Amino acid sequence: MEKSVYEKLSGVKTPVYVIDEKRIKENLEILKSVEEQSGAKILLAQKAFSAFYVYPLIKEYISGTACSGLYEARLGYECMGRENHVFSAAYRDDEIDEIISYCGHIIFNSGCQLERFRDKVLKAGKKIGLRINPECSTQEGHEIYDPCSPKSRLGITLKAFEKIDLAGVSGLHFHTLCEQNSDDLAKTLDAVEEKFGKYLYDMEWINFGGGHHITRSDYDIPLLLDCIKRIREKYNVEVFLEPGEAVALNAGYLVTSVLDITENDMPIAILDTSAACHMPDVLEMPYRPPLYLSGEKGEKAFSYRLGSQTCLAGDVIGEYSFDNALSVGDKLCFEDMAIYSIVKNNTFNGMPLPDIAILHENGECEVIKRFGYNDFKERLS
Ligand SMILES: *Cc1c(COP(=O)(O)O)cnc(C)c1O
Repeated sequence: MEKSVYEKLSGVKTPVYVIDEKRIKENLEILKSVEEQSGAKILLAQKAFSAFYVYPLIKEYISGTACSGLYEARLGYECMGRENHVFSAAYRDDEIDEIISYCGHIIFNSGCQLERFRDKVLKAGKKIGLRINPECSTQEGHEIYDPCSPKSRLGITLKAFEKIDLAGVSGLHFHTLCEQNSDDLAKTLDAVEEKFGKYLYDMEWINFGGGHHITRSDYDIPLLLDCIKRIREKYNVEVFLEPGEAVALNAGYLVTSVLDITENDMPIAILDTSAACHMPDVLEMPYRPPLYLSGEKGEKAFSYRLGSQTCLAGDVIGEYSFDNALSVGDKLCFEDMAIYSIVKNNTFNGMPLPDIAILHENGECEVIKRFGYNDFKERLS
């Protein structure tokens, strides 16, 4: 991040997530140019990032929203109001009507769900898709993020697909990638075509899912464009992509303050944030979040283990080093904190939720949501 941005953030009340409007715009420019050059439509996967405050901005650039169920469907409908596609591993009888009212494309995960709800969707004049499982793993080491892992419940395998009555089905959907480049998409498309190509000729649309790290600096956009154009032309289908991360990649910060410094074998800084509550992917993925002006442990003069206020022994963000010794009251700024953070946070251990702020393009940092005790209490009874 830029020094001027850091200086702006050092005055805010912590903990706070800060969404960087300028960075979001830069990502959106890239995504818009992919839409324009390829003819594909790009949808924001709200699962990664649901900051509806910036939906009016996002909808100037891309085509709409992708949802995982009723609440995201409603949020996309109410706050974006453009293309709205939904996939759920299974829909509930008491939610499907409302979901259909919000979404243009309803994607099913089995023949049984299709049978159950086909008539309702068609009667409403909406489109039906089926999520397929091309059984082509392209990621290693993160089985919980791999929908093609053995016994996966996500997507219909060819064996099961062959038994389905496809009446009313106008599209196919696959989602198998996670933070990947377009070479893995190309590989996946080969598997999709080999297994499901013969069905694709009869479809109107295909959705390539998410996991395309399009806005990362080393992403191969020309190969993505080739993939989209080839599939569009060969099968005469409309192509959708539904990235989440790529929309808000490197476009947010979590600013925290040092509350105390203790020592056990090495200096330990206690922060007013928590990996478990405010950045759960740090523990689940797991990964080490980038921290502004820091190095690996031992790389700079002063190394610290950074941990949380909570009682969870493992609530540690990582070991980092700094040019200067930390002091109580110092502000630290974790980067790339817009995605899979705000949407996943929780109040475990009675931890407060971080505020949400927008860093406007003109440099003004505006707090748009402040949380308090009631947000903790209202989820309990
Ligand atoms: C998670 C998910 C996405 C978004 O994935 P990103 O890795 O954030 O791009 C898109 N579609 C489906 C079906 C998903 O489950």
